[in-house]
Amino acid sequence: MKDQTRREFLKSLGFVAVSAVGLPALPNSDAAGQASRKNRPNIIFIMTDDHASHALSCYGSKINKTPNLDRIANEGMLFDNSFCTNSICAPCRAVILTGKYSHLNGVIDNRQKFNPSQQTFPKLLQKAGYKTAMIGKWHLKTDPTGFDYWNVLPGQGAYYNPAMKEMGQQKKYTGYTTDIITDHALKWLKSLKPQTPFCLMYQHKAPHRRWEPGPKHLTMYDDVTMPEPDNLFDDYSNRGRAAKEQDMSIAKTMTPNDLKFTPPRGLMPEQQKLWDAAYGPKNEAFKKANLQGKELVRWKYQRYIKDYLRCIASVDDNVGRVLDYLDESDLAENTVVFYTSDQGFYLGDHGWFDKRFMYEESLRMPLMVRCPKHIKAGSTSEKIVLNLDFAPTFLDIAGVEAPADMQGESIRGILQGKTPGNWRKSMYYHYYEYPGAHSVKRHYGVRTGRYKLIRFYQDIDEWELYDLAKDPREMKNVYGDASYADIVQELKAELKQLRRKYKDTTGSPV
Ligand code: CA
Repeated sequence: MKDQTRREFLKSLGFVAVSAVGLPALPNSDAAGQASRKNRPNIIFIMTDDHASHALSCYGSKINKTPNLDRIANEGMLFDNSFCTNSICAPCRAVILTGKYSHLNGVIDNRQKFNPSQQTFPKLLQKAGYKTAMIGKWHLKTDPTGFDYWNVLPGQGAYYNPAMKEMGQQKKYTGYTTDIITDHALKWLKSLKPQTPFCLMYQHKAPHRRWEPGPKHLTMYDDVTMPEPDNLFDDYSNRGRAAKEQDMSIAKTMTPNDLKFTPPRGLMPEQQKLWDAAYGPKNEAFKKANLQGKELVRWKYQRYIKDYLRCIASVDDNVGRVLDYLDESDLAENTVVFYTSDQGFYLGDHGWFDKRFMYEESLRMPLMVRCPKHIKAGSTSEKIVLNLDFAPTFLDIAGVEAPADMQGESIRGILQGKTPGNWRKSMYYHYYEYPGAHSVKRHYGVRTGRYKLIRFYQDIDEWELYDLAKDPREMKNVYGDASYADIVQELKAELKQLRRKYKDTTGSPV
């Protein structure tokens, strides 16, 4: 009996179908009784903007501690190989909502508008009886659809005293944005009727450029020197033109504005006082030091990374507030909490900030998932999972069949320690925003457990191959090395196959 038929058969008998992996797989709300609907897990999807895995202590960060975010990993599952399919903000968000690659959901780079009439997982959850909300950073140019409640930052939003658009109405708030987004998220959670299954997308602006810390964290790390990445002074030898011609280096691209020589706009007098007290002395000391060359890069790195981590400290505090609320309200047990970021980021790695490249630091997304009732505490998975998988996973958790045109796979089995035998062994990536900000050339590629093959195209035609077992920092392109000729052939065949599978005909053919 096919799955679909069996499910319908059970439905007709009034049974709740229990899937092989153990989470109750409930049928759609129109067929489910109230009693069974009560048990459907809630979903809280926490997403930050540009938070790299190597700035989370549960991923072994050498530069900061994230005790509250670590709770999600310690009490649930941490994914070691979670990747995005196109490492840039709006495209990642569109992939997450639709479960489809960029060339199919229409948002290939940050310049496109998201078509709000297309199929998304919030719409499908809503149809299945979930209460849905989107609170915080949206960044898709058109208003959110599929939500019972939404309250989002317009565009990139401000770190201080933000405007927010609530169900179409713009309002201005006083305070720090990470706190304000959390206040709204908690208010919405508290407004829900008991036993209503819900899905909340709780999405922060932090720690996006220009990394403006909140009032509580302005002087955090002032008395420490952060360790530098070993390739802060990468000269891009052994790599091609793409790495050499980018415009995202701390040395060249980072501006005085990024480095807080100007305060945020529109601070309240009290905020201005705190800001001046924190940055005034730091900037004076910089002027006196008269730094140049590598010493200047080192100073910029320290300023950048501390501000970035200060923004994360505020996220960590605020996620702690939400986790505490789940505990206090007895929601923790049956709520699946996801933590991720729209993509990774370079924390001085290769001398860079920003993202875009298929190299590890921006390809990787943090992913921790907690649900005490269904996921073993302290578990980890090394399986390759993608942002493409979120939509089908949320639907699966809610007992809703994922539409056939969604391209991701549900990770529910992995979460419950029962990985499907045919789980993917490779992933496909495609980046488009060129010409554009930071001058990262268009490229696509394939990553397996050990290798990464990248093809840069458009005004360039170059291939790069990295042996991640021997060269995890991706400092040496071995594409032309004869000893890897067979690997190159295998990976090209895999790349062709993946492009066919995901129906990607954009860019130069392999
Ligand atoms: Ca981003």
